[in-house]
Amino acid sequence: MNSKLKELEKMLLLTVEKSAVDGLQRVKDTVQSLWPNHSFEEILNNPKFYELPITSIPLLTENQYLNSLKNKNIPEEIIDSLSLVEVNYKGFNNQTYTGQIIVHKELVDSTKQVFNRILKETDFPITSIIPLSLFNWNSSVKYNNSGGFDWRLVKGSNEITDHAFGAAIDINPLINPWINETANRPYDPNLRGTLFSGSNVVKIFREAGWKWGGDWEYSKDWQHFYRPEIPLKYYGKVEVKE
Ligand SMILES: [Zn+2]
Repeated sequence: MNSKLKELEKMLLLTVEKSAVDGLQRVKDTVQSLWPNHSFEEILNNPKFYELPITSIPLLTENQYLNSLKNKNIPEEIIDSLSLVEVNYKGFNNQTYTGQIIVHKELVDSTKQVFNRILKETDFPITSIIPLSLFNWNSSVKYNNSGGFDWRLVKGSNEITDHAFGAAIDINPLINPWINETANRPYDPNLRGTLFSGSNVVKIFREAGWKWGGDWEYSKDWQHFYRPEIPLKYYGKVEVKE
């Protein structure tokens, strides 16, 4: 294995061990800013909360964005390889919103193109697109928040995820779950905002060169689009078939 990649994985393991469950207030604040007319508990107890109209999406300034990466002890070379991208999308109420997503610099144009096409050519709804730093780097799957960069390992393994290179995007992750032998989460492809074989959103990502976790044989990551050539090019990370 590439020694640089090994080093990153070691650093990540340390980060994971050190990070206590903190910053939950930040998570609450961010979720509340989306739906200020409902209490946090009310939101989470509503099985269709993710369809509620959103008041406004919190946006990071370039400085807030860079500081949030530095505070997480992300290596300088990873920070330098990333970009904060504004994207427009349609909410479940068909209103257009502007969100932000962190991706690898080489994927900026492709990311903009994909979200533009989803907005213009489909009626596919997305709940929110908010960088994980606004969730204090806690997972935002529970809130159906879509996103790109996440400084972490693949769940349940010591392997670095393509998200840690800004080379993966998750869409509506709560209703497009990752399903494997140990985690069988509810997935109903008849719901609005879900991804399935033949979905026009999958087609748009594919045409822009992205691979899809819904095509995997041994597990399904319905939410997950990725560009394995990026970590391969910079770190020699070989794609793992799942
Ligand atoms: Zn993913």
